[in-house]
Amino acid sequence: MSPSAARNLRSGVGALLAATALVLTSAACGTVPGGGSGSGSPSASEQAVVTSFYPLQFAVEQITGGAVPVTVLTKPGAEPHDLELAPQDIARMSKARLVVYADGFQPAVDEAIAEVQPSSLLDVADAADLSLTLAEESGHAGESAQEHSAHDHAGSDPHFWLDPQRFAAVAEVIGARLAKDDPAHAAAYVRNTSSFVSKLTALDGQLRAGLTACRSRVLVTSHAAFGYLAQRYGLQQQGITGISPDAEPGGAGLKQISDLVRSQGVTTIYQETLVEPHFAQTVAGSTGASVATLDPLEGITTASAGSDYFEVMHSNLHALQKGLGCS
Ligand SMILES: [Zn+2]
Repeated sequence: MSPSAARNLRSGVGALLAATALVLTSAACGTVPGGGSGSGSPSASEQAVVTSFYPLQFAVEQITGGAVPVTVLTKPGAEPHDLELAPQDIARMSKARLVVYADGFQPAVDEAIAEVQPSSLLDVADAADLSLTLAEESGHAGESAQEHSAHDHAGSDPHFWLDPQRFAAVAEVIGARLAKDDPAHAAAYVRNTSSFVSKLTALDGQLRAGLTACRSRVLVTSHAAFGYLAQRYGLQQQGITGISPDAEPGGAGLKQISDLVRSQGVTTIYQETLVEPHFAQTVAGSTGASVATLDPLEGITTASAGSDYFEVMHSNLHALQKGLGCS
């Protein structure tokens, strides 16, 4: 080997090492939930599944069982409706093996998917059957169920995961897609999906049994996140704010809800973990009702009543039974 060839080889090795370091750094960042990602292209086995908010992250984690990294765009403790994405988040989406999201829930995500290969996208909105729309102006959020066109979910109630049957349908679609894209792990994904769906079916049975005999069926919530749960188990939801916590009620809206609370003998107003309890407390204060927490599971934080979806849903069931007087 000539001296110049040896020099070229050494510098080539140096460049390779630098490139490897870059890839490793990028892969390490990419596995942190809510974290950014650097440049470089991770190998197929390191490529993350990027999910847009907590319930989708939880479903993918249950199904993949640690076989691949899973990240989430909505940071724990952040309110997902008004998510804003940084350029690193969009870069992370464009490099993902799969981006799992629900069309119509998070406008920033709906916009950013333009940067992602269509073959790397999984929109679960159709599987979720988002058949409830919210007539926010009328003050009767969550009460009207209307047909929607299959590919326009704007104005639909996105909170499908609070109905375990809808969540199970979404889990089946995610499991089938992961198995198709990653044949090496397909058997495990199919097994894990089936076990996750069984747990959701059991939860559905517990909610149905636990909410059968109740003194009141009027569910006054902070934001109107519980429409699908209310519909599934025969409750009537009245959200103080609308489909999104940002849709604040005016004085007339608050009075209307307070009147309903009095006339229906509602004794509990439900507030939630990621939203300021101001309006719930106002209604409770003016009616003598008490305030309890119902968690829409839009993110898990240290304030959550449980460490994952199932624990928090069990806590929600207990809060509902207590507040609605179920035996
Ligand atoms: Zn919500």
